[in-house]
Amino acid sequence: MALRIAVLRERAPGESRVALTPETAKKFVALGAVVAVEEGAGLAAALTDGAFAEAGAEVGPAAAVVKDADIVLGVQAPDTAALAGARRGAWVAATFDPFRESARVAAYAEAGYEALSMEFMPRITRAQSMDVLSSQSNLAGYKAVLTAANVYGRAFPMMMTAAGTVQAAKVFVMGVGVAGLQAIATAKRLGAQVSATDVRSATKEQIQSLGAKPIFVENVAGIEGEGSGGYATEMSDEYKAAQAELVSSHIAKQDIVITTALIPGRPAPRLISDAQVASMKPGSVIFDLAVAQGGNVEGSRPDEVVEKHEVKIVGYSNTAGHLAADASALFARNLYNFLSAFWDEEAGRPVLDEEIGDAVRLTQGGKVVNERLTPA
Ligand code: NAD
Repeated sequence: MALRIAVLRERAPGESRVALTPETAKKFVALGAVVAVEEGAGLAAALTDGAFAEAGAEVGPAAAVVKDADIVLGVQAPDTAALAGARRGAWVAATFDPFRESARVAAYAEAGYEALSMEFMPRITRAQSMDVLSSQSNLAGYKAVLTAANVYGRAFPMMMTAAGTVQAAKVFVMGVGVAGLQAIATAKRLGAQVSATDVRSATKEQIQSLGAKPIFVENVAGIEGEGSGGYATEMSDEYKAAQAELVSSHIAKQDIVITTALIPGRPAPRLISDAQVASMKPGSVIFDLAVAQGGNVEGSRPDEVVEKHEVKIVGYSNTAGHLAADASALFARNLYNFLSAFWDEEAGRPVLDEEIGDAVRLTQGGKVVNERLTPA
């Protein structure tokens, strides 16, 4: 019997994305799978039921879609209750937020599903096209700058007009991973004067190559090169103090600050204190991209414009979700690239290898099996 891939409407509050598009539905069908999608699943991302049906997917109510499913795709992993009727041991490929949502991981183990956590995709060349963190962060970095520009009461580019000159905005990007690089590029395109910082020394050249100015702690060692898997770790107290001093002197001269710093498995590092916010000029704007992970900025709150010391602090709980159509298109392709790379023609389904399979698999055979969640 053909492999059945099911996609439910996302149920998390505010989630506008969908894990399948007509494009990827068609490609899964071409591999020999049956694809079923819940009614209305794509509407918030401008994808109609008709478009899915035309692509060869079955469209129906949740229970019918999930019945006998071998693989369920999601943006945010559904509650296990929504999976009732799926096959025993069915795979669920989605984001699980595994470090924080341990109860959900345990529920997946207990229900006997195989949770495949897309956040745990290893940072290796062949997995780049499967990496949802990258695809979503890139869009988030772009949207952060547009949102900050929208909240800001001045223009970004320098303009010479008959009525006088409008000064270019000064934008400072803190954290130069995927989101930060896109934030720099977007702010440059809008005509701002851009500077940026990170703890990883490898980002210095990347900042320069985008035409922005690197601002780095010089007297205390940061992370040489890329860091393990490209990720940062928690920094020493000495480094934190040096960074705070550097940031204090720089931030007071900025109009816009975009913070993007994350550390896997830990709350986001605090980069801007209330006193530093107070040092900024009235009318300045901070966008805290890490607000949902605890925030880089003291006082930031998800989905609110917090005004402190005449400075507006903004941050979305789901920034990529504000670009639902593009975010869904890229997320869905990441999932297709993942499953199709492992497609076994004879088995008529994907068969994962150790390097990627063991990295993303959280639960199997009733147990939590991921070594990042079960330290030896
Ligand atoms: P991330 O989202 O984990 O963190 C964002 C940035 O914040 C990082 O650059 C990090 O160094 C920085 N940061 C952390 N703590 C900080 C602090 N205290 N002060 C200042 N900055 C701080 O990072 P990311 O966007 O996932 O990317 C990290 C790296 O991984 C990048 O170099 C990226 O190119 C690389 N990457 C590789 C692959 C691949 O090879 N498949 C895929 C994606 C990303």
